Amino acid sequence: MIERTTAETMSLEASSPFELRSELSKNVPESLVKQSLETGDIGFLHSFTTGSAVDGPGIRLVAWTAGCQFRCLYCHNPDTWNIMNGLAVPLDRAVAELNKYQHGLKIMDGGFTLSGGEPLMQDRFATRLLKAARGMGIHTALDTNGFLGERLSDAELEHIDLVLLDIKCWDPERHKHLVGKDVGPTLDFARRLAERQRPIWLRYVLVPDLTDDEDDIYHLAAFAAGLGNVERVDVLPFHQMGRYKWEKLGINYALNATQPPPPDMVKRVCDQFRSAGLKAY
Ligand code: SF4
Repeated sequence: MIERTTAETMSLEASSPFELRSELSKNVPESLVKQSLETGDIGFLHSFTTGSAVDGPGIRLVAWTAGCQFRCLYCHNPDTWNIMNGLAVPLDRAVAELNKYQHGLKIMDGGFTLSGGEPLMQDRFATRLLKAARGMGIHTALDTNGFLGERLSDAELEHIDLVLLDIKCWDPERHKHLVGKDVGPTLDFARRLAERQRPIWLRYVLVPDLTDDEDDIYHLAAFAAGLGNVERVDVLPFHQMGRYKWEKLGINYALNATQPPPPDMVKRVCDQFRSAGLKAY
């Protein structure tokens, strides 16, 4: 049984994903976590937030999942790394949350975005929630690092109107240094989405001295343009809004001295994507 004080009484809504949330499921038995991951009956969520204008087209309701297998040096939400930091939310409660906003989302030409953390760490819950949103006629988007894309069947991909695909870095060694995992599975997922003609918005976090290499961006832009399904590229300038979470969680943060990229660097990177024929913002 899920402890009532957290699972049933805590608000699902946060003012923003930058709100620190941790250990919300520390009393959930391991067997229930395992079963939930297999069935998707329960999801582990950091929160829901409303009113986002940057996580897909229109105004978005966003569910932020807990659990991520990457360890990005620049991660803004390290409290979402551990699945047990999330609130255990029965699927029907999450669907009720969608239901609450479905009318407004449609009026605002918006939709629902599942983000994280990495939503595909909970692929069964993710699939069922996205399918439920689609069933209500809500536009659906999945924000993912793509590493676990093979967990989704071709039929399940059809419930996702848009994939916000985060490609962290082109160069394999730099990628591994940056996130702790290989870039290959992410690129394979991008190719599969292209084959299935599923639209992608590519997201690229720009960090001085980590992801600003001209050659890397040239190759990434050529790859993305060659896919044929990348509708736009969002170049996301690094910022320090998540730093306090690293401090509070007692995790060593390597980017204390890193500054946001200067405007001319952001422009250069956007121009590189545009030169490959992509829309970049
Ligand atoms: S993939 Fe996202 S949530 Fe996971 S470590 Fe990287 S930035 Fe953080």
